Amino acid sequence: MTSRPPTPAQTHTEQARAEEDRANPLLAPWTSGYETPPFAAIRPEHFRPAFDRAMAEHLAEIEAIAAAPAAPTFDNTIAALERSGRALTRVSSVFHALAGAHTNDALMAIEREMSPLLAAHRNRIHLHTGLYARIKALWDGRAELVPTPEQARVLERYDVTFRRAGAGLPEAARRRIAEIGEQLAALGTAFSQNVLADEQAYALVLETEEEDLAGMSEQARAAAREAAEERGLAGKYAITLSRSSIEPFLQSSTRRDLREKAHAAWIARGDGGGATDNKAIIAQTIRLRAERAQLLGFPTFAHYRLDDAMAKTPQAVEALLDRVWGPARERAMADRDALQEIAQADGGNFALAAWDWRYYAEKLRKARCDIDAAEIAPYLVLDNMIAAAFDTAHRLFGLSFREIHDVPVWHPDVRVWEVTGPGGRFQGLFFGDYYGRPSKRSGAWMTTLRTQEKLDGEVRPLVVNVMNFAKASGGEPTLLSFDDARTLFHEFGHGLHGLLSDVTYPMISCTRVATDFVELPSQLYEHWLEQPEVLRRFARHHRTGEPMPEDLLRRLIAARTFNQGFATVEYVASALVDLEYHLLTAPEQFDPAAFEAETLRKIGMPAEIGMRHRSPHFLHVFSGGGYAAGYYSYMWSEVLDADAFEAFRETGNVFDPATAARLRDAILAAGGSREPGDAYKAFRGRLPTAAALLRKRGLAAAS
Ligand SMILES: [Zn+2]
Repeated sequence: MTSRPPTPAQTHTEQARAEEDRANPLLAPWTSGYETPPFAAIRPEHFRPAFDRAMAEHLAEIEAIAAAPAAPTFDNTIAALERSGRALTRVSSVFHALAGAHTNDALMAIEREMSPLLAAHRNRIHLHTGLYARIKALWDGRAELVPTPEQARVLERYDVTFRRAGAGLPEAARRRIAEIGEQLAALGTAFSQNVLADEQAYALVLETEEEDLAGMSEQARAAAREAAEERGLAGKYAITLSRSSIEPFLQSSTRRDLREKAHAAWIARGDGGGATDNKAIIAQTIRLRAERAQLLGFPTFAHYRLDDAMAKTPQAVEALLDRVWGPARERAMADRDALQEIAQADGGNFALAAWDWRYYAEKLRKARCDIDAAEIAPYLVLDNMIAAAFDTAHRLFGLSFREIHDVPVWHPDVRVWEVTGPGGRFQGLFFGDYYGRPSKRSGAWMTTLRTQEKLDGEVRPLVVNVMNFAKASGGEPTLLSFDDARTLFHEFGHGLHGLLSDVTYPMISCTRVATDFVELPSQLYEHWLEQPEVLRRFARHHRTGEPMPEDLLRRLIAARTFNQGFATVEYVASALVDLEYHLLTAPEQFDPAAFEAETLRKIGMPAEIGMRHRSPHFLHVFSGGGYAAGYYSYMWSEVLDADAFEAFRETGNVFDPATAARLRDAILAAGGSREPGDAYKAFRGRLPTAAALLRKRGLAAAS
């Protein structure tokens, strides 16, 4: 903006630009009923100009805040920052939703181009000396400010965020931190695109029903047929590297040679030695993270990371993981012996290998718990499980869900529901994108297209759940495994954290809480799936509509601690490797493959169990900083969720209204408005110990 009268040329440029903005659906006002992104009109070429425009606008806002002549106040600095960058938030949310759930070559190229530029943009703000001086002045003088408790917390989060980004460091250190941030962003994007490329490139193609598909359930066959069709191999069957495709295959295929082949491809993602190999990216990432942490005054990246987590120190994380590792490994080794025996009795003259575990575990499950995965799936219809998640939210929090069809979506499979609270109050929209497809990255996640806030009037959230369920072919209902159904409840729990959010400031809205606290709402929600009264109503046979037989239901619930040795070992191994990488002080010359192997050797990792995520495809840790030195968070949160669900049980009613209200007020609606420990105490009256977690996993007796 200029203070002189505009020249005709400037006027012309500004007019042209305004017209361009109106023609770009990412920048033009979203005028649909719920002000949702106009996905049908958005094309890849809209993103680059929209990002440029939105970043420029944001920087102009930042400069204005930093240069304001008035002394800093909460309103002219913190609230003004909270109001800034709205266009960028909008463009980024849409972009990241598409880049994860429905990408293509054009979007992937933009992602590679934009990720360092966005990192540079964040740096320009976080390392802005004039801006930080204002924040620091407010923080130092906070005693005189008399803010509301929420404002005090927001100010604290600004101070922490800026300090942790390097504000306040000498010029040279700030410059180096900015460089590192941009390099890390580019490395993270390359890492995740390499994994996606390996996943897209691979399919185990099966042809003969009798031989190649031996052992596979009707449902797994249907899903494999659909996956083949999507890859232009109609009439054949394809096993892909998505968890919902390969896990059922490893559980059921009688063909040991094919299991070995598929398993080898699965654990080799990002480790193939070619253009998509991620090992050099890992080494460089670890090096840069360590350097940044040291510039910020921490001995290692793990110390830096955990300083702003509920856990606080690497020692606290190690203590929890160690506490669980011993009993879990002991249980897993005992299970391994039992699996080996079954294999031998089956005529298998071989030592059990990683590609055998799931297959024989199914047989052991059948023998011990009288449960067969193929017996369960016909009762777990996707639509009914969605209904079960909604009904649970209704009983706990009075939420209602009405499917609507006039909201634009990014893929025809995406469904949308209008969510209302008690008294019909509009709560937000819920988008469900449930099926796997080649344009989607693997895994399951929750994200938002818009978060809740009420800084300038009530803004309701647009919440998204993305899954990778194998879609049934021929219009048949999609059937889930019990693990799939648990994933659905998990992500829906995150969804509720978004939908029930009730704070004023965006900085602390929805899921903007510590990473080791953020899994509490999601993991806690999984408990309701296992309640007999929920399963009795919603687990109904896909053909007959009959409820799951009582006897099967009883066996299913009793089997919940089965194979927990394996599940805990595969998880803790990944969590420990993640932590160890980030405890390196000078990782100049190191080989991630050797480091991973050595770490596993030190903890006595059973050879028959693979890691939940091997390093070359450990997206949580390397596709961005999200869970770096933070993969332990799931278990940290599980200490909380196991204990939190006991709060419901203790009342004798797992839908107890008073407990649900406390959960909503203290945790789900509160976002990051208080310290995680304080939020938990407000719900439970005290902090938890690991005892409930060990009981939940059936590992308590062995400890
Ligand atoms: Zn989660």
